[in-house]
Amino acid sequence: MTFILGLTGGIGSGKSAASQWFETQGIQVIDADIVAREIVEKGQPALVQIQKNFGDWVLLENGELNRRALRDYIFKEADARQQLEQITHPAIRTLIIQQLQAATSPYVILVSPLLFETNQHQLTQRTLLIDATEDVQIQRASARDGQNIEQISKIMTAQMPRQQKKVLADDIVLNDGHLEHLYAQLKPLHLQYLAQSELG
Ligand code: ADP
Repeated sequence: MTFILGLTGGIGSGKSAASQWFETQGIQVIDADIVAREIVEKGQPALVQIQKNFGDWVLLENGELNRRALRDYIFKEADARQQLEQITHPAIRTLIIQQLQAATSPYVILVSPLLFETNQHQLTQRTLLIDATEDVQIQRASARDGQNIEQISKIMTAQMPRQQKKVLADDIVLNDGHLEHLYAQLKPLHLQYLAQSELG
């Protein structure tokens, strides 16, 4: 079986920056956020289930998911989030497994902001946390997305606290300097993962 590394970190911690570096080393990266969007694309079984569960209003006229309407509804209705996740989580998990199995690189990375929160770490052999202080997270995420601090803080509170992730992760990289500093810390880990994947 292929060695699977789970890569996580809070918003703005540098998950994408780290993933991109691993890709330059020839390592394939499966992104849980992208998979989460793929399973609700027009015509996908999970989207059909969402429509059956909530009603036709979840679809736009062109058959695509009306994200804003669903987001607003989930905000208002206490049980709606859980109902939605009962549909989406298994579909996300199945597609992640398919994509991991199709990977051909020496090892493969599953990157997910909610790796531990959604138990996706159970699909992996080892986990790497990209860690950053909350100030740095806010600064980077607001510069990247143009979102205000309030929106970013809201996302941060929905994610597992930094300290808790540090306890759960096998490896931790503190991304508090230049990108070159990040890459220099990733390099020895990459060599370690290569060696581990050969043993497996
Ligand atoms: P995440 O995927 O964890 O939300 P990103 O990798 O997108 O975070 O990083 C957030 C922003 O900060 C991006 O614009 C990225 O280029 C930048 N960034 C990440 N790490 C560093 C770093 N060490 N130095 C400077 N900019 C960084």
